[in-house]
Amino acid sequence: MSLALKRPLVLCALFLSLALPAAAQPLAPKAQRDLAVLVTAYPGLVAAIETAPAGRATLVLSDGTRLPYDDGRSKSQEELLNAPDIEDMLAQPYPLGPVTAEPAPGFSPGRRRVEPLFMALYGHDKAAVTANCRPVPFLGQTMAFNTRFGAADAFARAQQRLARLVAADPSLRRYLLPASGGVVWRVIAGTSRLSVHSFAAAVDVSPKGNPYWRNLPRGTNLLPTRQAFPVAVVEAFEVEGFIWGGKWSEFDLMHFEYRPELILLARLARGENLPLADIGGLLRVAR
Ligand SMILES: [Zn+2]
Repeated sequence: MSLALKRPLVLCALFLSLALPAAAQPLAPKAQRDLAVLVTAYPGLVAAIETAPAGRATLVLSDGTRLPYDDGRSKSQEELLNAPDIEDMLAQPYPLGPVTAEPAPGFSPGRRRVEPLFMALYGHDKAAVTANCRPVPFLGQTMAFNTRFGAADAFARAQQRLARLVAADPSLRRYLLPASGGVVWRVIAGTSRLSVHSFAAAVDVSPKGNPYWRNLPRGTNLLPTRQAFPVAVVEAFEVEGFIWGGKWSEFDLMHFEYRPELILLARLARGENLPLADIGGLLRVAR
């Protein structure tokens, strides 16, 4: 083609690219999957996903909060806990079922929490969280649990499973009771991060009987204790979208919290064919 012909074509292409509305940038497959999992686990949480060049994505939540999927920063283990982005929060795969090995140091899937996301999910302060709760029976006790995004309903279903287990094997009671939950607006011991108990989306079962990592000497081999905890109890929670702190390197054997996005990721990872929300309609071009 002659130079004389090429120039009008280039100008024409340039004109078209300026005149047409910019198309949403495609997301990388991992970002696509993570965001579809988040939207599936918490329907209505994400109002839009803004895409920018190089596949960068910003979530716009229903309360107006804007969160980067990947903030592009490399972080220490401590920073990953203190200031995770969505990608960091979902990066450690939660292992379903029985504990088979001691977790590597720092492997605590679910401990990285994007705090503004939890505020958008469950309430921005103690009064808002309290207003979102309803009482749920728990093996003869009653505790407030957050009703938003199906959390209280999932907790009630887990409780029904546990009640059947305890009826068949009363020796399980000592692992579960007394339990403590409700709205406990506080930071995690030794940190400035809000505990998920602040949002009434977690329960501590038999806090006196089940160990917590800060209460034992560092380097304590906890594998036998983790494995002695009844798997049936763990699975009753997991099947309803709860993760167990007994699978964390910084172990918290009394702790179960509602994290349906991590359970969904785990079920996909073991090959279950689960339908995910189509996020195509949420994509917007960043301005
Ligand atoms: Zn707890």
